[in-house]
Amino acid sequence: MAQPRVSLRRLCSIRSQVPGRCSSYLPRSCLLRTPPRLVHNSSKSASGDNVDQRRILGQQLREEWSKYSLFPRASKAAEFVEGKEVTVHGFLSRRRVKHSKLVFADIQVNGPSIQITSSFVDLDTPGHLTSQALRAIPLYSPVSVTGTIAKIHGEPGSASRIDLDLNSIQPLNAFPKDIIVSDGVQFPPSSRHLQIRFSDPLRARLLARPQIGFQLRKSLNGLGFTEVETPILFKSTPEGAREFIVPTRRKGLAYALPQSPQQYKQILMSSGVRGYYQFARCFRDEDLRADRQPEFTQLDLEMGFATGEDVMRTIESLVSELPAALNAQFRMVKNGDEIYPISKHGLGPKDATDDLQWLDLPSPFPRLTYQEAMARFGVDKPDLRVPFEIRRVDQVLTPDFISMITGLESPIVDAFRFRPEPTGEVASDSSSAFVDDLMKSLPSALAKNPDGAPVALVFNTKRPLCGLSSLGHLGFEGLTGESSGLGDFEDLEDGDILVFQARENKAFQGGSTALGTARNLVYQSAVSKGLLPRDLSFKFLWVVDFPLFTPDNKADPGQGGQAGFSATHHPFTAPLTDEDVELLATDPLKARGDHYDLVVNGVELGGGSRRIHIAKMQEYIMREILQMTDEGVGQFSHLLEALRAGCPPHAGFALGFDRLVAVFTHTDSVRDVIAFPKSMKGEDLTVKSPGRITSSQLATCHLAFAGRK
Ligand code: ASP
Repeated sequence: MAQPRVSLRRLCSIRSQVPGRCSSYLPRSCLLRTPPRLVHNSSKSASGDNVDQRRILGQQLREEWSKYSLFPRASKAAEFVEGKEVTVHGFLSRRRVKHSKLVFADIQVNGPSIQITSSFVDLDTPGHLTSQALRAIPLYSPVSVTGTIAKIHGEPGSASRIDLDLNSIQPLNAFPKDIIVSDGVQFPPSSRHLQIRFSDPLRARLLARPQIGFQLRKSLNGLGFTEVETPILFKSTPEGAREFIVPTRRKGLAYALPQSPQQYKQILMSSGVRGYYQFARCFRDEDLRADRQPEFTQLDLEMGFATGEDVMRTIESLVSELPAALNAQFRMVKNGDEIYPISKHGLGPKDATDDLQWLDLPSPFPRLTYQEAMARFGVDKPDLRVPFEIRRVDQVLTPDFISMITGLESPIVDAFRFRPEPTGEVASDSSSAFVDDLMKSLPSALAKNPDGAPVALVFNTKRPLCGLSSLGHLGFEGLTGESSGLGDFEDLEDGDILVFQARENKAFQGGSTALGTARNLVYQSAVSKGLLPRDLSFKFLWVVDFPLFTPDNKADPGQGGQAGFSATHHPFTAPLTDEDVELLATDPLKARGDHYDLVVNGVELGGGSRRIHIAKMQEYIMREILQMTDEGVGQFSHLLEALRAGCPPHAGFALGFDRLVAVFTHTDSVRDVIAFPKSMKGEDLTVKSPGRITSSQLATCHLAFAGRK
């Protein structure tokens, strides 16, 4: 007797009821990772029955397969002419049943928005059957639609909307009922495919990304650079970051994934390649932060017979060409807080606005030394949109006030003045509320800072000593008096917020001071609360003359030498001047490197340096200054050999491509411009990596877990 037909959908739902087989969100059984098992009523399990069931299942799958997999080809752009019949492929979305004989729907395609109309007059006509077919297809299913073009809105070739009178529609798969889609829905990271499909901003940014890459490639090719691919399976070297190791089948041997193609590109310089570039995948096993991924993409470049100046000019010209190129291709959509670009030739620019454009970038970009950036902005990647700077103020403050804000002996005290918009009487109240909120939400690194937490005072002419009585008369006069020479503090207005922070009296080290962090926090919080306008401009700058070396810390492996410090950028960076070369031997922590970072709006977009191209000098720095072991230096023998072979002077740079795309598409997170980003734990939750290593894989690589026999 023939078995009742079991549809694929039914099979899926039967399997999803098997305990332990389904996730709480999606029936995993739909993934058909193993052949579906037939469920039947008969208790017989004779092999003859199984053969029958398999035959029936095979038949069903064949039918379903041919129903969904044979479909007409999509029409080419040139075939889209009013009155002509065309075929489009896309996802069925937004179906509107006007009445029993008139249905509208949208087809989501990678081009202009397509609206289909299905109408009929008489029952049982082809129009009626097509309308029924349209209504029966689950929303969001992929479809092939054939219809006659009723109207093309907008310019031919860059239409914004096309209206089609539906002639036929064919589903190409079915969207399951258990996936609930609503406006602005956030799917879990395991369903990244759904997030990409249903989030317009995410999809738009992923589509913009290769266009930005294309522009950069075009400019570099125009400048005579050569794109060269370098190996992903590299070897472990103490370049600075912690590496990912790739075991091999050869006992005791492992590759390492490149933290950057730095050494290969320098070898290319010795090979005579004048200008190299590559969109390079880089891998660093570092502690992750919101804007960091363990694997990321850099636009990596290197120039032979060149100095850092040449590289900075080249990068400036590349980046400065982007706004005009992007304005030619994209328009902006502003949707609530989200601003993102959509192609002028696709994706239905119905919400797009021409008011928001990428503005020309004034070049050359301003330059700040590391010391200046740290003193004025408290950070080595200053956000120049923030309209207030840091000033050193301990010279005008009283010992009483200083001892109130810190327990440090003879500290330095810095301060900034933040002026919310608008100022005035009301502003004093809203500033006080703002300060209260801010102090409650300080990150613990600031609130529990051993040097003392930041102290914020609100200027209010209605209060004793204008709300600054904790400064005392002397301190008040010293800070706000005309002779203070402290600019911002001389003309205080009601509602101004003054933030003070102490720090140890020693040279700057690392990437930021506590007050630098507080300054960014105040700015971001003020913008989000409407106390300052959102500034969409890009404020680029170079930060230069970094210290060549930085004292070792626990987080970064550095070069593993015995000197107690490691290279700030990497050990191949050249000292800045002859004076810095001399300092190598006498006071290496004071030596500056020819190292430059490109910064925009508080984001480090990339970094580079002039390299040491003389092998002896490179070896001297590794061996004598960083005090690396013979083994450590030996790991760079390939590079030393390449330098020894008459390598020309060279310099280079790497532009963080994910960050560049994030900045230019107006998002703070690189996760919004990476199709499959990793979580803060370094996991890809879509495919669930990293996976457990099996014993047979361990055996193949001659590995064992520590502590096991
Ligand atoms: N390799 C460096 C980095 O990845 C960039 C450079 O110096 O060119 O940061």
